[in-house]
Amino acid sequence: MATASARVEEKLFQNRYLVDSGRPHITIAPHAKPSESLLAMTRLCPAGCYSETSAGQVEITPDGCLECGTCRILCEPSGDIVWNYPRGGYGVLFKFG
Ligand code: SF4
Repeated sequence: MATASARVEEKLFQNRYLVDSGRPHITIAPHAKPSESLLAMTRLCPAGCYSETSAGQVEITPDGCLECGTCRILCEPSGDIVWNYPRGGYGVLFKFG
């Protein structure tokens, strides 16, 4: 019997995301040089929200954040980021059951 399978990218594509314009739920503290944890997020975030700029700083675009909490665990205790859940009605809506 064949089993249905889907790639992770296909599953993520099922999600919907409502952006709360001008009110990002994750912000990065100003930094001259990113910490190792912050830099690691450019590779670890499953939604690809973190990126490194040409100036060597890390920036975030939280649109599409899956609220997995990885960056919250890794970077919030050190003060690299401030993390809050999106306001009610905003953020990710998981569609794949
Ligand atoms: Fe990425 Fe997860 Fe952090 Fe959202 S909570 S920005 S998906 S690592």
